[in-house]
Amino acid sequence: MKNTSQDFDINLALLEYYQAIGVNMAIDDKPNNHFIKKEISQNKTIDVTKNTIAAPSLSDISIIDTDPKQAKTIAQSAKNLQELEKLLAEFDGCALKKRATQLVFSDGNENAKIMIIGEAPGRDEDIEGKPFVGRSGQLLDKMLAAIGLDRSKVYIANIVAWRPPGNRNPTESEISVCLPFLHRQIELVKPEIILTLGAPAAHSLFNTKTPITKMRGIWREFKLADFSAKALPTFHPAFLLRQPAQKAFAWKDMLSLKSAIDEFSNLSVK
Ligand code: URA
Repeated sequence: MKNTSQDFDINLALLEYYQAIGVNMAIDDKPNNHFIKKEISQNKTIDVTKNTIAAPSLSDISIIDTDPKQAKTIAQSAKNLQELEKLLAEFDGCALKKRATQLVFSDGNENAKIMIIGEAPGRDEDIEGKPFVGRSGQLLDKMLAAIGLDRSKVYIANIVAWRPPGNRNPTESEISVCLPFLHRQIELVKPEIILTLGAPAAHSLFNTKTPITKMRGIWREFKLADFSAKALPTFHPAFLLRQPAQKAFAWKDMLSLKSAIDEFSNLSVK
């Protein structure tokens, strides 16, 4: 089949459309090494119709998020963080898993008394398997450094442990099915202080829809059946990268976090 310039324009428009809606990965059912397939010389025409961006197959979209009660039973059976990570890695009840490269469980110190909870892995985290390693993570590291903390003194997790495709927000159903695992993760880490980053983390952990602008900077009690911790919601670093003027509020929150840490001796590490 010969390509016309009209085909080229259509394909270019399609790619631009994908880019505009945030698609930045082409995923096929099977790995496909495009580098060894083509030798592009000036005399050869490229059949772009053979190089399609795969639509999700039926097996991909037939997964639906499982009942959170079932997730809770599985999560509660974990006796330690290693067991919990294994159970989550084997758990097939969240549709996000199907599209993600790997589970992004945690980073930092399992014995830390400060736990930081973000939203969801992005592209860099999906590739590296660790939370907050991309641009937001670099800003988070700077925010922590500004009050004398680093990843050896905190434990970091997300409300969902797999990357949502195209970095969209996780859905309520995806959050509900992942939340029992996060709750168990919190129970096992036993932090004294929790810092939540951004609206989805604050909303999910406190079961509220109050705007993050009203929640940030105000300490709350985070409670589970047999566990409680002081918790401070603040802005997400990704939001601060988009709205640098809001960094002043985040700085206030970091100072508030520092004061709370100073109230407990030896709080930064158990
Ligand atoms: N944003 C998050 O909320 N979590 C990550 O791990 C990375 C970016």
